[in-house]
Amino acid sequence: MSLPPDSMGNKNENPAERRLVERFLALLRIASPSRQEGRLAAHLQGELEALGFRVEFDSAGARAGSDTGNLIATLPATAAGVEPMIFCCHLDTVTPCADVHPQIADGVVRSDGTTILGGDDKAGIAAIVEGVQRIRERGVAHGLIQVLLTICEEIGMHGAKELDYGKLQGKRVFVLDGEGAPGKIVVRGPAKDLIRATVRGRTAHAGLCPERGVSAIQVAARAIELMHLLRIDAETTANIGSIHGGTATNVVAEEVVVVAEARSLDNARLDAQSAHMKACFEDAARDFGATAEVVVERSYAAFLLDADTPVVGHCMAAMRRLGLTPELVATGGGSDCNIFNARGLTAVNLSIGMTDPHATSESLRLVDLETTARLVEAIIESRA
Ligand code: ZN
Ligand code: CA
Repeated sequence: MSLPPDSMGNKNENPAERRLVERFLALLRIASPSRQEGRLAAHLQGELEALGFRVEFDSAGARAGSDTGNLIATLPATAAGVEPMIFCCHLDTVTPCADVHPQIADGVVRSDGTTILGGDDKAGIAAIVEGVQRIRERGVAHGLIQVLLTICEEIGMHGAKELDYGKLQGKRVFVLDGEGAPGKIVVRGPAKDLIRATVRGRTAHAGLCPERGVSAIQVAARAIELMHLLRIDAETTANIGSIHGGTATNVVAEEVVVVAEARSLDNARLDAQSAHMKACFEDAARDFGATAEVVVERSYAAFLLDADTPVVGHCMAAMRRLGLTPELVATGGGSDCNIFNARGLTAVNLSIGMTDPHATSESLRLVDLETTARLVEAIIESRA
């Protein structure tokens, strides 16, 4: 029997593979910008309940400013003695994400070029739901499975930060939110500081009595000129993100606010870099007779899991089962993974094929989507 082409005109004869693609396309068509994940969450609640999950939401939405909390779905174990596993993706996407019209050509999914695609992170979500459905259909005995779908990841992992951790029933977290073809396991992530400097000088009329003024803009310029920025060393980066201040050309600027970040795979190196940046502002302020109030806030700590960590071994075993060569990698970016590891869970981030995320050129290969669903199945089946 030959199946008719699916909604995108594809003629894949494998019903489960087609179902995965349809499932992915359906998710892409539901807009879910950060803080407005409610409609997508409701759709996925239905999908997960149909598979036998008990679905609940925590109260993180109110604190994160979203129309929904984090979705936590639990499927009871059908086999005894298996370590519980938690699969995690984020519900939100960056913008523009209204009216995504996915197109498939040559086995690659793209948007029509006017929006992002949203494969970050809906490819992971589709793969998890499909992977669990296949496990159920094949009657494979499994341990307790939780699916955690977070809100507001893209705007600072607020869902993970505000998550009700009491609702989680395991320690091993498989985050599916990584770039590149399946096979990579992110086991190392940076710590990040947000640095906010408010420089205050003294205002004066720039034409009549500029000598009475202290220009906050000049102070900020001196501070930044003294600063080591961008690539600091192999593990450490720093960047000035924005500068706001000043009012008019005839006014000596009274206040400038500079917002910066620093990251390092090493917590101590980050401490040193942030202290250096803070000192540059303070030294420049002193030289000019201004003040600098510098607030350094640790967004998250660095993490490093070695190959002996159970969650890492578990992923490697599942990948080998599929014929993939596992690759343990570090990332310069942040994800929910950073937050979970800081909260006492062991979390890895797995690559799911996303290419050019956050751009209207974002794409995803269908073969990578299928491999990711199979990886979910293999993780559930592995007894590592
Ligand atoms: Zn993501
Ligand atoms: Ca992202």
